[in-house]
Amino acid sequence: MSVARPIGRRKPPDYAQCTLFRWPRARNGLLDKGTTGVNMERRRLIILGGGFAGLHALRELAEVEELSITLVDGRETSLVKPSLPEVAFSGKSVDHARFPLAEAVRRAGARFIHASARKIDPGAHHVELEGGETLTYDYLLITAGAKKDYDAIPGYREHGYSLCDDREAPRLAARVAELREGPIVIGSARSEWGSRIDVPRLAAPCEGPIGEAMFMLDHELRRRGIRDRTTLRVFSPGEIFFEDVGAAVHDALGPLIVEREIEVHVDRTLVALHGGEVEFEDGERWPSALTLVIPPYVGSPLIQASAGLGDERGFIPTDHAMRHLDYPEIFAAGDGTALAMPKLGHIAIHQADIAAAALRKELTGRGEIPPFEPEIFCIMNRGGSQATMILSDVLFGGKTDRAVSNPLVHAMKWGFDSYYFHTRGHLPPEMAQDLLLRILRS
Ligand SMILES: Cc1cc2nc3c(=O)[nH]c(=O)nc-3n(C[C@H](O)[C@H](O)[C@H](O)COP(=O)(O)OP(=O)(O)OC[C@H]3O[C@@H](n4cnc5c(N)ncnc54)[C@H](O)[C@@H]3O)c2cc1C
Repeated sequence: MSVARPIGRRKPPDYAQCTLFRWPRARNGLLDKGTTGVNMERRRLIILGGGFAGLHALRELAEVEELSITLVDGRETSLVKPSLPEVAFSGKSVDHARFPLAEAVRRAGARFIHASARKIDPGAHHVELEGGETLTYDYLLITAGAKKDYDAIPGYREHGYSLCDDREAPRLAARVAELREGPIVIGSARSEWGSRIDVPRLAAPCEGPIGEAMFMLDHELRRRGIRDRTTLRVFSPGEIFFEDVGAAVHDALGPLIVEREIEVHVDRTLVALHGGEVEFEDGERWPSALTLVIPPYVGSPLIQASAGLGDERGFIPTDHAMRHLDYPEIFAAGDGTALAMPKLGHIAIHQADIAAAALRKELTGRGEIPPFEPEIFCIMNRGGSQATMILSDVLFGGKTDRAVSNPLVHAMKWGFDSYYFHTRGHLPPEMAQDLLLRILRS
């Protein structure tokens, strides 16, 4: 998984802003007594979604005394998606790719509600939950991610495999285990984006998982001695494979792909999966014994059900402080925002840092809001002890474009994933992250 450079330091709360010794006026029971023995009127923050962005923002805001935080998630566990390729291809237990949310949220001093949010009424400041309960907020942080739209691909449910969640990755692992021979096809379906925010319009939300899948599957088939009974064809809807990085990273990855006898085809738009075949927009069909796809991403159904909150594709339009363009008390971070491009954990965490800093500054007057400076930073496992670490900002007009491949990088990914899992969603210490960035920038 990627790691993020922490931005912004937490400062102690400003008690001058508290209402000293005033008897709390009950407001949905959310007016609390601060840990200092000082009564203050806390503002109600609801965080919708406990993935990378939601948990990181929660941690960043946990010490803001002015806030009473509730985190709502339809899942009982937080899913560590960067671990899913290992679930699919190298025998990792799916239980090591998720951890209980209630415990993680409670440890941060917030309230957890296990329920899906059905609808947001931004005018009334209400969130309606699936059971019919309504929550009222002063501030809302939407970190509900994006929907992977498997059903947008005709034939996916009968003939397709994926690795984007904890249902699909184990299903793929079972199929890989029984595979003996035949052509394998791997690729991303084309995603479409809304028009309110000016961002690079990538054809695929993020091709890192495709890269991991092709290398890790190749490794696994070689380990089992059956690679020569298979072919491995990869397609990309983009004009170039890995369109979010620059020429130096392409030059580093190209020989590794050739060496593994993986065929790459660009500008291919998937339209349907059939029994034993993959169909593209131009009518071409490829035979396939195993088809692995990343489906199109669309905005969360929650946003699509909440009039006025999303763009044409259901992604949330924000400014660079991660504040909703039309509703100043709503912030958003992560895959569900229009600004997150590509859809990457590193960018989700960067946005969560910014949203938390903006909210903290609004409530306390303290701290600075970090600039939105996206970059691609990820570690791609390539099977066994091989991995490639990528840092690139050329998509955003920068000059950094680096890839480093060696077993140390693999050990680092293992270390970072394990740290995140065992600490229930904490990022590794800043020192370790800086070391990685120094290696890449040297
Ligand atoms: C296979 C795979 C591998 C990846 N590998 C990497 C990697 O190596 N490095 C990297 O940086 N990125 C990686 N990514 C991307 C990364 O996982 C995402 O960018 C990141 O998870 C986005 O975080 P998020 O918090 O926005 O959303 P999510 O992690 O998707 O979290 C959203 C949360 O919101 C909850 N939610 C959704 N709807 C509702 C609702 N209506 N009510 C309540 N809760 C709701 C969900 O249950 C979920 O817990 C990978 C992605 C995939 C699919």
